[in-house]
Amino acid sequence: MTDDKRRKTRRTARCPVCNAPARRETRPFCSRRCADMDLGRWLTGAYRVPTDERPGDGPGAESDGDGSYSDNNA
Ligand SMILES: [Zn+2]
Repeated sequence: MTDDKRRKTRRTARCPVCNAPARRETRPFCSRRCADMDLGRWLTGAYRVPTDERPGDGPGAESDGDGSYSDNNA
């Protein structure tokens, strides 16, 4: 009874991707396609986030110390 009432509520979640009414099976998205799209966005963003990668980690760090020493030497 109460469940039926709740199901008929007008409150409808909106798909964050295309703003269409979300479906129960693919909440909070309207379809699996939108869910995949959102997931893809997350993955792409994660890939773009710089983590431990440092450009020229080896030679760069060494050059820094070497440069200081070299400057002192010269
Ligand atoms: Zn959608």
